[in-house]
Amino acid sequence: MADIILKPKGTNDVLPSDSYRWQYIEGVLRKAASDFGYSEIRFPTFEHTELFVRGVGDTTDVVQKEMFTFTDRGGRSITLRPEGTASVVRSYLENSLYGAGLPVKCFYIAPNFRGEQPQAGRYREFYQFGVEYLGSPCPSADAEVIALYAAILDRLGIKGTQLSINSIGCPECRPKFHAALRAYFESRRDELCRTCLDRLDKNPMRILDCKSPVCKEIAGDSPSCLDYLCSDCLEHFEKTKEMLGAMGIDFTIDPEIVRGLDYYTRTVFEFVSTDIGAQSAICGGGRYDGLIETLGGQPTPGLGFASGLERMMMVMDAQGIEFPKPEGCRIFLAALGGAAEVPVQKLVYDLRKLGVKAERDTTGRGLKAQMKYADRLGAAYSAVIVDNELSEGRARIKDMSTGSVFECLLTAEDIRNAVI
Ligand code: AMP
Repeated sequence: MADIILKPKGTNDVLPSDSYRWQYIEGVLRKAASDFGYSEIRFPTFEHTELFVRGVGDTTDVVQKEMFTFTDRGGRSITLRPEGTASVVRSYLENSLYGAGLPVKCFYIAPNFRGEQPQAGRYREFYQFGVEYLGSPCPSADAEVIALYAAILDRLGIKGTQLSINSIGCPECRPKFHAALRAYFESRRDELCRTCLDRLDKNPMRILDCKSPVCKEIAGDSPSCLDYLCSDCLEHFEKTKEMLGAMGIDFTIDPEIVRGLDYYTRTVFEFVSTDIGAQSAICGGGRYDGLIETLGGQPTPGLGFASGLERMMMVMDAQGIEFPKPEGCRIFLAALGGAAEVPVQKLVYDLRKLGVKAERDTTGRGLKAQMKYADRLGAAYSAVIVDNELSEGRARIKDMSTGSVFECLLTAEDIRNAVI
């Protein structure tokens, strides 16, 4: 026998026995997004590399080190999507979504690809639920976006997460902050990693999210962006905080949150859980007022967040939160004797057409093994169809949990009425 082929590093299978967990969480996410006025958007798994270089930023870790990029047969540079926002904005512009009026509110559930070193909670293919809120400059949009994720945590029963928020300013005030950062990091130039030396010239803010422990420590003493906000940014931040407070959403202010992607302006935030180890961020987002323009559109404000589904599930597991079990087999029909084979096949088909989860054996098992199989399927009811059932036109149905038996007509309608 040939060796089996294993999945690539950093990817996951969702097994048939586990997929109900995904369906449950996706259902909660879809419902919450819809309640908050978002419609689903779907986009390609791969895009032109240029979209991410321009949108995410060429000094970010994602673009510099993590993208899965290849040249297609036509010689074009293609990249597997490392994050969703750039794709949403590309689609918004390409399809003139602004034409129907602003704001445009959309959400997605989609896999992303990043060539990171895999560990618990960090994968090379991972699923994100994300929302984008395009066309509102107001703090109420910031508060509303954050409130959506707070509501999602609540609906999933996740407790004890911390929300940290920060404001990283706008093109008006950012240059002063950059200058202060540059001066600070310049004074500790000799200690920085190679990548950060490059960032020092191009974009000193990116040093703040370097993963090297030395750079992290140096960044700990760097100037705070909050000290450099212009009056508009300050007012925006104050109003956002006031609205969060009014909605009863607890938060702390953390000037070290700058987010790893270049497009953020003003409000940035993260939800963190202490229950899942090192990869503790379960949701991150913020405002990106310059992104739409960077990608070729009219200046339009926007904001959003993305949250990893795997990490949400890890938190739920760590907190012992049960996922509702999927509906099991409703009735198992065992055929005994050659004459029952074909009628049972038809009956199962008719029951399924009526929307009943009906099952039968298709592997040629004997009766005892068929009933074992019915147990494994968790069948609520079973019936053994033998020749005399067929001639009498009646079925004896067994309630598998109590063992009691009752009779009904051997028709799909009658059996359905008896078991649902
Ligand atoms: P980001 O797009 O980096 O802001 O990440 C947003 C969220 O996606 C994080 O808070 C995580 O929940 C999740 N996430 C990011 N990168 C990974 C990864 N490599 N593996 C699993 N989840 C991830």
